[in-house]
Amino acid sequence: MTKYKIRVAGEYGVGKTTLIHQFTQNYFPEEYDPTIEDLQLKHMVIEGENCYFEVYDTVGGEEEPLVRPRAARGASGVLVLYSITSRKSFDLVTVCCKLIREYIDSDHFPIMIVATKADLEDDRKVSQGEGMDLAKSLNCSFIETSAKSNLNVEQAFLVLARKINKSRLDKLN
Ligand code: GDP
Repeated sequence: MTKYKIRVAGEYGVGKTTLIHQFTQNYFPEEYDPTIEDLQLKHMVIEGENCYFEVYDTVGGEEEPLVRPRAARGASGVLVLYSITSRKSFDLVTVCCKLIREYIDSDHFPIMIVATKADLEDDRKVSQGEGMDLAKSLNCSFIETSAKSNLNVEQAFLVLARKINKSRLDKLN
């Protein structure tokens, strides 16, 4: 059994809760669901291996773009989200990743940058190229997703899981 403890971070409103919901429950909540728990679980069989995802939301007020890196404590990896419709949320990604890496004290801690709301193409403020370049400069993986269209949601978690596996192996060697 392989366990992944994943923290989801990013500015208020980028779609953290919704992405987690789509991944663990396979639906897009049209209405805000106040009953959602901070922790969601998902079981998957990946390449014949039983895998358990513990996914932690980062809840908080408007000023909460995981400039609370302590939230990453104990996580095997972090998804840092920004919305393609918000330049501000994109600008916060750099500081967020740097703070996490400083706090965890590892340049190799698995972080995946996830662009959200890719279905809102008409309202796009951040190009896919900018996202890719930023991820490269921060040594992170990158993917564009839409929880609404269920585009690349599972893929985001799977790519991060692969990155976590690799970092676990590297630690053993
Ligand atoms: P959080 O504060 O980061 O947890 O953000 P939420 O998950 O609460 O989402 C904020 C708003 O964005 C909600 O109104 C969601 O319905 C909306 N939203 C989230 N993901 C998507 C998406 O993929 N596409 C669209 N169009 N809206 C989204």
